[in-house]
This record gives sequence, structure tokens and C-alpha cells, in this order.
Amino acid sequence: MAEILKGVEVANAMREGLIAKCDELKAKGVAPCLAIVRVGERPDDLAYERGVLKRFEGLGIKVRVEAFDEKISQGEFELEFGRVNEENDIHGILLFQPLPKNLDSEAVKKAINPRKDVDCMCEANMAKVFKGDDSGYVPCTPMAVMEILKHFEIPVSGKDVTIVGRSVVVGKPLSMLLLGENATVTICHSKTADLAEKCRRADILIAAAGVAKMIRADFIKPGAVVIDVGINIDDAGNLCGDVDFEKAENIASRITPVPGGVGSVTTSILASNTLKSAGMVLNNAG
Ligand code: NAD
Repeated sequence: MAEILKGVEVANAMREGLIAKCDELKAKGVAPCLAIVRVGERPDDLAYERGVLKRFEGLGIKVRVEAFDEKISQGEFELEFGRVNEENDIHGILLFQPLPKNLDSEAVKKAINPRKDVDCMCEANMAKVFKGDDSGYVPCTPMAVMEILKHFEIPVSGKDVTIVGRSVVVGKPLSMLLLGENATVTICHSKTADLAEKCRRADILIAAAGVAKMIRADFIKPGAVVIDVGINIDDAGNLCGDVDFEKAENIASRITPVPGGVGSVTTSILASNTLKSAGMVLNNAG
């Protein structure tokens, strides 16, 4: 049976360091603050918002929720976003996406102050991820995967890693982070031929496709580490990952659960990025 890699263990290990950093900033006169920008009331967004509020409260980081009606016009939304972007007391901004269909997120992605872009949605920060320049921010979910690998001392250098999913928020930046740690990375997607074979090569298999239980037991090399980023609802209406967990845990050596895996670490990474942005204010002032 595989060892279950629990996200809460990683989040707990990060906790003391984050609290210490927050206290240090407060002692220097900076009260770290994240603004959540939400349009409408999508259940996913509300669930993530609750998670952030709870985690940040425990760390002593302020959160300001800027919620707008889904009927807000593009012009009004850009004005409101600009206000949040300008406010000195706000250090980081998390924009919930996708926005409702009547809104275009590109304008605000271009407008966001890169220093406040704690979830890495602007091109300047994404370019840094691809260059291996750590002066910006890494998107929270790929960084949560890296933190899990680091915490559980799973070697990455020289390993074959297969990622299923090539999105801009997960698969692509994650592949760059893994390359930066000297992994040999295969990126798969919806048009990949013989996906099972590519997955079976992997010492570390990372599923980020958003398809419930698509990674079957025969996709997994015996003894491989399996990281499941997917968040889906199965036929019975339960939350599940992209991996068929019950079968996979008999084959993998270590595996993350859903829920309770990658998702449990994401808000700690967001906190870490928010503290980094608050620290930049101090450095700029000095
Ligand atoms: P996305 O829809 O933008 O991208 C999905 C990717 O998977 C695409 O590159 C697509 O080519 C690939 N894909 C889809 N079906 C496939 C198939 N049958 N075979 C091979 N590849 C396939 O999704 P995303 O935003 O990258 O999110 C992926 C999953 O991760 C979703 O379930 C999402 O809910 C979850 N997610 C979790 C967290 C977290 O904190 N745990 C954060 C973000 C996203």
C-alpha cells in the first residue's frame, strides 16, 4: 500500500515560518494584506475564499474580499480593479478566474502591478518562471506540488516526470519548476498518443487534467510517486482527483489524496507569496 502524502503535514510544517515572517513585517510597520477579487458567487470560488480566510487568519495576514456583482460592466470592473491595484495597504491580489463570460480578464492581467501579482497571472512574472528567475512569484498550485516533493524528500533530479495537462496555470509552469530541479519532464495533453505508456515511464506522475479518475492503475509504474492535482466530482457526486485512487494506491509507492493533498498546500503558498510582496514594500522603502 502506498504512503499517503497528506497536504496538511506540509502546510503545518510551513506554518511557524510564515507566522514568524508575518510578525517580523508587522514589527517593521507593514501589516501584510491580500485582496481577493471575486466576481459573482461561484461555489468553487467561495470554497477557496473560505480556505484562504481561515488559513490567513491563523497566520495573522489580513484579507480584504472585494466582491462584485456578476453583472458588473467591463469598464466598471477595470476601474474597481485599478483601485485595488493602487491601494498601498494591499500587497497581494488574488483574482478568481474564470471571470463571467461578459468580462475579459486580459485587461486586468495586463494592468496588475507585478509586485502584487501573487498568483502569477501577468506575463512579466510568468516569464520569470520560465527563465528560472525567482524574483517574481510562482503560481500557487505548481509551487504547492514542488513544496510537497521537497517536504517528503522525494528526489527530483535525474528522475523521469510525466505531467498530464499543459495549462498555463498548472502544467506549463510546473514543467519549468521541475526542469529547474533537473528532472526530465514529459508533458502530456488531450492529443497525446498512448498516454498510458508515457505515464508508465514516470518515476513521478503528476495528474492535472481535470478528468475524474482518468489515471488508471495500468498508467502507473510500480513504485512511482503519484501527485494528483485534479479536483473533480465523480458519478456519485463526491470530490475526487484525476487518479483512480483506490486502485493506484496498490501500485504507487507514495500518493497524494483528493481532497487533502495538493489543494491543502495551495493557500500556504499564497500566504508565502503575500508575505514576499509585503516584504518588497519594505525593501523598496529602505
Ligand atoms: P485546464 O482545463 O486548463 O487544462 C487541462 C489540461 O489537461 C489541458 O492541457 C488538456 O490538454 C489536458 N487534458 C484534458 N483531458 C485530457 C485527457 N483526457 N488526457 C490527457 N490530457 C488531458 O485545467 P487546469 O486549470 O490546468 O486544472 C487541471 C485540474 O487541476 C482541474 O481538475 C482543476 O480543478 C485542478 N486544479 C487544482 C488546483 C489545486 O489547488 N489542487 C488548482 C488549480 C487547478
